[in-house]
Amino acid sequence: MSQASEGSRSLHLSQVTKEFAAFRAVDSLDLDVPHGSFFALLGPSGCGKTTTLRMVAGLETPTSGTIRIGDTDITYAKPYQRPVNTVFQSYALFPHLDVHENVAFGLRRRKSKEVDRQVSEMLALVELESQARKKPAQLSGGQQQRVALARALINRPDVLLLDEPLGALDLKLRRSMQIELKRIQTEVGLTFVHVTHDQEEAMTMADTVAVMNAGVIEQMGAPAELYENPRTTFVANFLGQSNLIAGKVVGREGDFVKVDMHGIVVSVPFDRAHTDGGEGWVGIRPEKVLVAEVGEDIDAPGNHLEGGVVTDVSFVGVSTQYLVRMPWGQELQVFEQNTGRRRLFTHGEKVDISWRPEYAFLLDASQDAH
Ligand code: ATP
Repeated sequence: MSQASEGSRSLHLSQVTKEFAAFRAVDSLDLDVPHGSFFALLGPSGCGKTTTLRMVAGLETPTSGTIRIGDTDITYAKPYQRPVNTVFQSYALFPHLDVHENVAFGLRRRKSKEVDRQVSEMLALVELESQARKKPAQLSGGQQQRVALARALINRPDVLLLDEPLGALDLKLRRSMQIELKRIQTEVGLTFVHVTHDQEEAMTMADTVAVMNAGVIEQMGAPAELYENPRTTFVANFLGQSNLIAGKVVGREGDFVKVDMHGIVVSVPFDRAHTDGGEGWVGIRPEKVLVAEVGEDIDAPGNHLEGGVVTDVSFVGVSTQYLVRMPWGQELQVFEQNTGRRRLFTHGEKVDISWRPEYAFLLDASQDAH
């Protein structure tokens, strides 16, 4: 496939807004999804993910804005005129047709030897060759989901939309299907746009994650980038857990800014958005915080904070999770990997904590629109 034709199949949303009566479900959304990428729309219930997907599928018409695939404006095209297919959480298989016929149906009832070959290839891709003559009711939930996927992929849409497709599966099956879906996407090389409220699911599968909140995209990027450098408190809290400590920028030193947190000055990586005197939050992930005995010599360079008290200890196998109350009254979360080389700290014990300055992030209060 040449680069020009790859570009001609990418998905673009420009200033897309959807209002239901006076309620704005999706607000001026801009999105560019390159062809062949795995894109996740992540956000809490009601943030507008499904509405966005339904507008791309043609099941909902935008109040304003345009949707394009390559140069073709599909904003008002009928669903069947779009090079787009959708897999829903409810698989919507035909109960009276067997697996083979369900998948062949995706080819819009064309009958030929060619159809049989394509169906067999697709069933091989989703590893269901041996189930071809079973009816949907004879399959497990995970197998039914694969049939739905095969049926949606068989006419090679430019964009495959997946609306919480794993939502009905139990956790273990869900995790294995996530890996499976990613493998299939890589093999077929088509664009997948996946809607989920499960941050782990989005991060496991997607090349790019867009975090949605109240109809707008708060931040978009590679999973690791979003996790390491959240821009808003919403993103910091929605993707994993964060300790957020109120602070004020009091100076700059090379690549770091100095932030006064309740009278303790720490260093945080500099970011263009930060100005002297600016108020916001210092964010640090629980697994990046070290807990140490009072006065213990910590040789790593870092922000050292004294005067903590352990208020909770939870042993969870791979890690131990502590709550440490700091002198200003806030309880910080600390996740320590269990290597077996250290003793556990106990409830009520006095401790110091520290973290490397480069692991922290600074959230400017003005960046939080919500
Ligand atoms: P969930 O994960 O719960 O499916 P979501 O992020 O997909 O949530 P949407 O289904 O897109 O959210 O809904 C966004 C908002 O728009 C919600 O507040 C919802 O109540 C509202 N909404 C959706 N469809 C309609 C409709 N047809 N009429 C009126 N309001 C609607």
